[in-house]
Amino acid sequence: MTARLVLANARLIDCVVPDARPASVVVERGRIAEILDGRGAPTAVTGATVIDVAGMYLLPGLWDAHVHFEWPRLPEASIAELTLQYAANAHEALTEAGVTAVRTAGTPHLIDVALKRAFDSGRLVGPRIFAGGWFLTTTAGHALATGFARPIDGADAFVAAIREQIQGGVDHIKLNLTGGIIGPAWDRHWHSFFTPAELEAAFAICRQRGMKVMAHAANAEAVKAALRLGAHSIEHGYVMDDEALTLFGERGAWYVPTLGITHLTPSQATSPREKRYVAERNLPAAVNARAEAAVGEHRAWFQRALKAGVKMALGSDLRPLRDAALLELGLWVKDGATPRQALWAATRHAAEICGAADELGTVEVGKRADLIVVRDNPLDDVEHLAALALVVKDGRVVADQRG
Ligand SMILES: [Zn+2]
Repeated sequence: MTARLVLANARLIDCVVPDARPASVVVERGRIAEILDGRGAPTAVTGATVIDVAGMYLLPGLWDAHVHFEWPRLPEASIAELTLQYAANAHEALTEAGVTAVRTAGTPHLIDVALKRAFDSGRLVGPRIFAGGWFLTTTAGHALATGFARPIDGADAFVAAIREQIQGGVDHIKLNLTGGIIGPAWDRHWHSFFTPAELEAAFAICRQRGMKVMAHAANAEAVKAALRLGAHSIEHGYVMDDEALTLFGERGAWYVPTLGITHLTPSQATSPREKRYVAERNLPAAVNARAEAAVGEHRAWFQRALKAGVKMALGSDLRPLRDAALLELGLWVKDGATPRQALWAATRHAAEICGAADELGTVEVGKRADLIVVRDNPLDDVEHLAALALVVKDGRVVADQRG
């Protein structure tokens, strides 16, 4: 690994100020050491690898704050096979889409914790992982056919399961409060699953142990209950209400809208990227019908949350991960976010939701050098993020597609 790397002659989108500006970025031992104004390559940097990026756009690596690693689904797979598949998907997201960090929302057998350690150590190359381990639901809960959901019943059982997760090394706890778009008839997004005792106990042990709760909550009552009990983030929020929006502000909680779950059906796909993805995913008509029945409210609450200034980070809940963040970025813009709002949600705000904003999420001196270079300006069109030229993780070039 080169100790020093200079990315010269860039247009820098640092995700601190709104616009791009000419700059060169000096990276030393994995961190951003210096940002030189102007586009000329610095002359004072000796012993460095200098890459002239020739006016391309340099920005923080992308984040996806709601991921599951399986793609395609392997129902009969062993833990070893799943681990290899997940590692390959994560590696592909990093090197082919510039996703340098992810927050997991349900992974069986704590495979996300194992991969996090492998990627952090440098033995394997992959994105940074903020790991949640198992998706904790109930019997007759959500996502039971996925293999990553663990049904728990009773307050004491939730406490025990959460303690196991903590001991296993997770960064946050994923709790499943409601149904969703994909699932059997008794798993609809307006169904809430926890008894009051289960809800209290699960949040209480998380509070006691300082664990952030990532709450899958898709109806207004569940969103509000989770916010009142101290949830760190609400995932999905297909249906909310005014009181919920007020509670987000009062509690300083985050919203991760996962627009792709309701927006990506054959009749709604518009761009070539969306059409390709929808055709490849090929969901059953019944699932598409459920998505289309929910999309109007989902879009409206996303737009209202955005307008109300609710803290929001970008998370896709889509797979494969190499397609996911870019699809979700496009949907944010389609629903009315500016390209800058979407990009910041996928960089600095995603780092904040993971508690990593001191180290990551923007291009600033002293931060870790997780960077991407793209050919055209993503602030004009987020689709330009697909024209990836370079991916740098921890100061090391992990993908170079300039040729
Ligand atoms: Zn999910």
